[in-house]
Amino acid sequence: MKRNPLFATLSKQYLFQEIQTKARAFQTANPDKKILSLGIGDTTQPLAPSVAHRLVEASRELGNPETYVGYGPEVGDQELRERIASILYPGTLSRDEIFISDGVKSDLIRLLLLCTEKASIAIQDPTYPAYFDAARIARNAQVTLLPCSKGAPDLTKAPKGSLVFLCSPNNPTGEAFTKAQYEEIISSALERRLCIILDVAYREFIRGDLPRSIYEIEGGKKVAVELGSFSKMAGFSGVRLGWSVVPKELCYDDKSSVHADFLRLFTSTFNGAGILSQKGGIQALSPKGQQEVNSQIASYMEQTRLLRNALMKKSFSVVGGEQAPYVWVKMDNRSSWDAFDYLLETLGIIVTPGIGFGPGGEGFVRFSGLAAPKTVSEAISRLQSL
Ligand code: PLP
Repeated sequence: MKRNPLFATLSKQYLFQEIQTKARAFQTANPDKKILSLGIGDTTQPLAPSVAHRLVEASRELGNPETYVGYGPEVGDQELRERIASILYPGTLSRDEIFISDGVKSDLIRLLLLCTEKASIAIQDPTYPAYFDAARIARNAQVTLLPCSKGAPDLTKAPKGSLVFLCSPNNPTGEAFTKAQYEEIISSALERRLCIILDVAYREFIRGDLPRSIYEIEGGKKVAVELGSFSKMAGFSGVRLGWSVVPKELCYDDKSSVHADFLRLFTSTFNGAGILSQKGGIQALSPKGQQEVNSQIASYMEQTRLLRNALMKKSFSVVGGEQAPYVWVKMDNRSSWDAFDYLLETLGIIVTPGIGFGPGGEGFVRFSGLAAPKTVSEAISRLQSL
């Protein structure tokens, strides 16, 4: 077999592997220092009690001949689709427009297969790095970067007819689009025939009165696919569950239906998300589950607020931390990797270098408020000693 040459063009290591390599080297050289990791944005609180209980119960059902089931619908459990539609998108979407998956990352590649091989791709910068890799792997695309460090990206700079990846609240900046910003995004998308792929993995962390979905805004269903995830919202990063919304109103240039093709593609490439994850997801969207997961989110956001305050007291330039569990920090005039090394060597704290989220992230680092409470409080006291 001949190697696909595009693999030679990918960066050697994915960002978090690079961080781990540095952390391991530091720990080997400093065996007595306790490293505090505020780097990777993974959840640390256990599953909500009623969700964990439902997973146990669902396992028992699978172990019983009376209640065992095999394959479910490829597009997902009808009750779960119904709950996502009615609870997260009330009055806006029908359950048929929701496709249940094992998470955002796998849906990225699938969505890219909908456009032609020559399609242009634009990505906001800085943002979640998986979009860059997916665009390259699935489409070997030349990507147009849309800077977003001074607010929403300007979509009039996206090539006409392109696929545009956006994220709100954005990882790593922690900022979410306002209604007015969404209106501008939609108007540019309509004018330039753009298809937006909006990642709302952190939508439940929004605290202010900001939209949680582009479909809350007039015209959103004509221009956007939305990707959602239970990973951060309910601590399912290991359990695995997510969804894509492909509205029936979304059309290709020739007016044919994107929804119809996505359904065809989905059913040929995926046999459905795990039944246990889906049962857990249904529970997370029940009244009891919602109360439990929302209180976990509130506690993550409270520790993010404390972290943000501690960094501001040290007069660093701080963004985010109010609509997502990330604080985005400029550390004097250091480059991202210099700031990373400085925090690791002086305080034993691991953060994520902003450059890993695109060139627009240079000079910044990201602190995660999803770390364990003890880690965050210890990090705050070490920061105070700076
Ligand atoms: N989208 C964003 C913006 C993320 O930051 C992450 C994970 O950090 C994901 C998606 C991953 O989602 P999933 O676990 O559903 O694949």
